Amino acid sequence: MNFHEYQAKELFAQYGIPVPPGQIAHSPEAAVEVAKTLGGSQWMVKAQIHAGGRGKAGGVKFCKSLEDVREAAASMLGTRMATYQTAGRALPVNLVLVTDASDIARELYLSVLVDRDAKAVTFIASKHGGVDIEQVARETPEDIHSVVVDFVEGLQPYQCRQVGFAMGLNLKQVNQLTRIMLGLFKLFNEKDLSLVELNPLAVLADGNLAALDGKVNSDDNAEFRHPELAAMRDLTQEDPAEAAAVQHNLNYVTMDGNIGCMVNGAGLAMATMDVIKLAGGEPANFLDVGGGATKERVIEAFKLITSSDKVKAILINIFGGIVRCDMIAEGIIAAVKEVGLKIPVVVRLQGTNVERGRELLAKSGLAITPADDLNDAAQKAVAAAK
Ligand code: GDP
Ligand code: MG
Repeated sequence: MNFHEYQAKELFAQYGIPVPPGQIAHSPEAAVEVAKTLGGSQWMVKAQIHAGGRGKAGGVKFCKSLEDVREAAASMLGTRMATYQTAGRALPVNLVLVTDASDIARELYLSVLVDRDAKAVTFIASKHGGVDIEQVARETPEDIHSVVVDFVEGLQPYQCRQVGFAMGLNLKQVNQLTRIMLGLFKLFNEKDLSLVELNPLAVLADGNLAALDGKVNSDDNAEFRHPELAAMRDLTQEDPAEAAAVQHNLNYVTMDGNIGCMVNGAGLAMATMDVIKLAGGEPANFLDVGGGATKERVIEAFKLITSSDKVKAILINIFGGIVRCDMIAEGIIAAVKEVGLKIPVVVRLQGTNVERGRELLAKSGLAITPADDLNDAAQKAVAAAK
């Protein structure tokens, strides 16, 4: 799950990581009120979307008057914003964060993530912050420092000091960085996060360090342990079909092709997508209705797939291990009756009660194309989508 910058900064503040004071606003008037409350004479107005790269897209504005604040907020609120990180989608800007504008001396980069190669929580730091870190990695890899945290010992202060000195910080700043890294490590573990990024972590004009931007991702598998994080979810930032899938406990990812897939089990879903490609087609989605699929979930899954007009054919591939094929057939028939059938549906059923399932589909009077095996099913679906 992703979070907004303002939410990331709330989490940072709870763990003693310095952030500039600020508040969110839903209207230009409210943004001006926040700026007045903050006081001072310069403010940042920042569009809150689930993506970075806002600076280049007009979503981060430096304001020197209350009128500037009003204009900046008005220019962002109610619009949709695309950045190089939004993968072609434009995300709605429903709120802005108004903060004190800090005077910056230098911008650093600091992140924590799970490094699967190292099989460990790893910090990445660089003296080149505020920019695309992939570019730094390509152009000056020697300026990227990584700190692999020992699983048993945890993050050690000497590791933080090494990073601080490597980035050219003075003693006072190195001590601040150490506190920030230890706080981040605690935050990362206690909240079951998968990524935290401070870009930039700024050296302010007064010499102190502060997180001016924050990106946080949490591990969905740990969501049940963190109702406080789940409450921060902003569904307006997510793909509507994927957000609907979450409500029904379906594992769903939108893709670019035109063959909708309904499969039970993640492994079978991956294999089905492979076989569709082998047959010359492109899947429109990944969808795992789960090992214990019920009639209701089949109906919801069907609705989800048919909600996209990109989908030109549906391939249903169910292996009845835990689930029974006749129950799946009932689900398909009920779904088609409820949603209607405007595009071809190819069904491959195998496993428990398969004969009964096929019989139900055949007798339903619905124009459903049965398939004997997966290759046959994929070829029929690809042909039907053309
Ligand atoms: P992003 O473009 O979505 O990553 O948004 P950031 O919050 O990182 O802002 C982009 C850039 O705006 C930063 O790299 C800074 O250069 C600048 N910026 C952000 N906050 C401040 C601030 O408080 N003061 C000043 N002077 N610049 C800021
Ligand atoms: Mg940033």
